[in-house]
Amino acid sequence: MKLLRSVDELRAYSDAERAAGRRIALVPTMGALHAGHLSLVAEGHRHADTVVVTIFVNPTQFAPGEDFDAYPRGLEADLAQCRAAGVAAVFAPPPDEMYPDGPEGGKTWVAVEDITAPLCGASRPTFFRGVATVVTKLLVVARPDVAVFGEKDYQQLQVVKRLARDLLLGVEILGAPIHREEDGLAMSSRNVYLDAGMRAEALVLSRALDAAEAAVRHGERSRDALLERATKEIATASHAAIDYVELRDPESLEPVGGTLEGPALLALAVHFPQRVGADEVVRLIDNRVLRPGV
Ligand code: AMP
Repeated sequence: MKLLRSVDELRAYSDAERAAGRRIALVPTMGALHAGHLSLVAEGHRHADTVVVTIFVNPTQFAPGEDFDAYPRGLEADLAQCRAAGVAAVFAPPPDEMYPDGPEGGKTWVAVEDITAPLCGASRPTFFRGVATVVTKLLVVARPDVAVFGEKDYQQLQVVKRLARDLLLGVEILGAPIHREEDGLAMSSRNVYLDAGMRAEALVLSRALDAAEAAVRHGERSRDALLERATKEIATASHAAIDYVELRDPESLEPVGGTLEGPALLALAVHFPQRVGADEVVRLIDNRVLRPGV
């Protein structure tokens, strides 16, 4: 497995793979890899000959006061996981490779309109600008045939699909299902911030999705009733503070009407303290597409 540190190395590596007739899958990550990330690698292997993982904690998607400095980092362990998963190359650049003029020094940003406004965009107003810009840079340099993103970050996946289409990048963006712990908690690099008590409380996210899905299965079609069902479940965790609980169109991310008439995305973002009494909070997201009639 190759470790690529510079943009020039990534470009040269990809060019050579392409020249050899091999299809490339790119899997962008921020590292602290877990089984969810490895499921994206597996999806990459299903669609390409060469899987390239990128590991970069992207400063421009963190707002001041967010967890950029504290974000878990562990390159050696990440590389071992990639090697075991058959990854051909890891691109792990220092920040000045991606931002030669400093994180805020560039003059060009990728702004995806409308679908970045609600949900995570509402509480993290500069987040998608940072994500869209760094993902565009990675796609432009590596020019993969496919790139794989997790449905865990559902809105991000839609944003990346949209920018690839609008900017004619010629890359197929693939979504991979949410990978969960056995007890239902969606895997996330941020789960390590939670102590055992808060981790147990965090199970309310997947339970809220299960409850709403069960209600739909039993015939519930009222948006408000479904939102209330999910909200009630989250409220059973005494330290949970809801950022959003919303039902939206799975593609346009527009709000759904009062009655579900087709698939609807139930999206959640909830804050927990790292432990009882801690000032530091952890923001967890989760989602599921509810499908009336299934
Ligand atoms: P991150 O390192 O958290 O930025 O995530 C990198 C990629 O892995 C993104 O496309 C995420 O959506 C995806 N991902 C993170 N957690 C999961 C999970 N539990 N299941 C599936 N994909 C995930």
